[in-house]
Amino acid sequence: ISIEMGWNFDNSYVQLPKVFYTKQAPTPVEEPSLVFFNGPLAKVLGLETQELINEEGTAIFAGNQLPEGAIPLAQAYAGHQFGNFTMLGDGRAVLLGEQITPKGERVDIQLKGAGRTPYSRGGDGRAALGPMLREYLISEAMHALEIPTTRSLAVVFTGEPVYRETPLPGAILTRVAASHLRVGTFEYAARLQGEEELRALADYAIERHYPELLKEEQPYLSLLRAVIERQSQLIAKWQLVGFIHGVMNTDNMTISGETIDYGPCAFMDTYDPATVFSSIDQQGRYAYGNQPYMAGWNLARFAESLLPLLHENHETALELAQQEISLFSERYQQHWLQGMRAKLGLFNEEQEDAQLIEQLLKWMEEHQADFTNTFRALTLNQTDKLSNCKSPELEKWLEQWQVRRTRQPESEADSQVLMKRSNPSIIPRNHLVEEALEAAVEDGDLQVMEKLLQVLADPYAYTPEQENYTTLPESPDTPYQTFC
Ligand code: AMP
Ligand code: MG
Ligand code: MG
Repeated sequence: ISIEMGWNFDNSYVQLPKVFYTKQAPTPVEEPSLVFFNGPLAKVLGLETQELINEEGTAIFAGNQLPEGAIPLAQAYAGHQFGNFTMLGDGRAVLLGEQITPKGERVDIQLKGAGRTPYSRGGDGRAALGPMLREYLISEAMHALEIPTTRSLAVVFTGEPVYRETPLPGAILTRVAASHLRVGTFEYAARLQGEEELRALADYAIERHYPELLKEEQPYLSLLRAVIERQSQLIAKWQLVGFIHGVMNTDNMTISGETIDYGPCAFMDTYDPATVFSSIDQQGRYAYGNQPYMAGWNLARFAESLLPLLHENHETALELAQQEISLFSERYQQHWLQGMRAKLGLFNEEQEDAQLIEQLLKWMEEHQADFTNTFRALTLNQTDKLSNCKSPELEKWLEQWQVRRTRQPESEADSQVLMKRSNPSIIPRNHLVEEALEAAVEDGDLQVMEKLLQVLADPYAYTPEQENYTTLPESPDTPYQTFC
């Protein structure tokens, strides 16, 4: 059956020292049924949709049957959660193996919600349908926004309840990732294992994600620099679309530079750097405006973990690490600024651009303007729509912006093309996401989510249909809250 389905597994992770995983099969479920299947992604992976959307495929996505070549395991990792170091590991996820795609790429195929593992601690190893659909929806929306992310291949309903505050329908998500190596995996190696394990992990990460560094003189220092670079790009992309991750613990930061863990994440409507949606983030540690700082903090933990590999002399290693870490904010700032220029249709660079951008953001904050719709209105030249409180500051800003755009050789039409490419016309707004999930979970109606996925699949298209998805919630009566 594997050949028909297209599975083409390799299992490089099991070559790592045994401390990095525990072999663990998924726990079978009662009565699985397929809820969502990602045909386009299956194709990229070399999988056959027709062979997978039947009972046999469902059995695989439910963990009731293993595809040929799978060596199921739970990964060990640690991490700083809200600043505190803890041993963690896959408490409810099982890695089936690495699918080698027709293009020769290697991606993890993981079942999330597949039952208890040795790292489950008090947890039940399971996941509820709502949050798994949420991850499916938002990760696919992120992918369409051209933001590096893990992806979602399938969601199955397990036919079993999970018990949270109340009984909820249980589900399993099939997650596809460049890998599941995390900053927390390195912290686990450095703090809880030894230098040999750490070196094996670093070598593995380089080979898997940064093979071009193998020939560098100091490959481990280069690894640090490369991860800092990828993460600075990633976080800039988040900021540019108003994505708030919500739980940027070090175990949720990948070495590949993909966004991972769609627990309490949400998109910001009204522009406010202090925006927090997660119910467990009481201090606003992971607020929108804090994300770049927290990324820098996490990367400092990554650098610390690598110290023994950077130089035999601890002081020298520290200096090298600090030097790299100090470059993060600069790199981030550069990516962000470049992205903001594109959002404003600017091709060339002027010193004063940063100020122009800051002025717009300040106006947005003061007038509680919607982040996405503001850039959308600028893009479509519908500045009359910008707010019901047209202000002299805005008029002045628009004039400055207009003048600034004349100081580049590109035409206004070129500028608008750049803006359309850089400003999504639609994002997965909280009220839309909730509406789709409620229909699916409460009423078994998947159409609302299907429709939403479809319009989110091309967020830079500016289709007339997308216009219907740009309206804001009627009364933001209760502040939006997300849960892990
Ligand atoms: P997160 O905050 O989603 O990154 O998860 C933190 C840790 O909790 C990870 O080690 C997860 O595997 C674990 N975890 C989350 N939910 C469960 C669950 N229902 N059962 C067991 N472990 C869980
Ligand atoms: Mg996590
Ligand atoms: Mg999570």
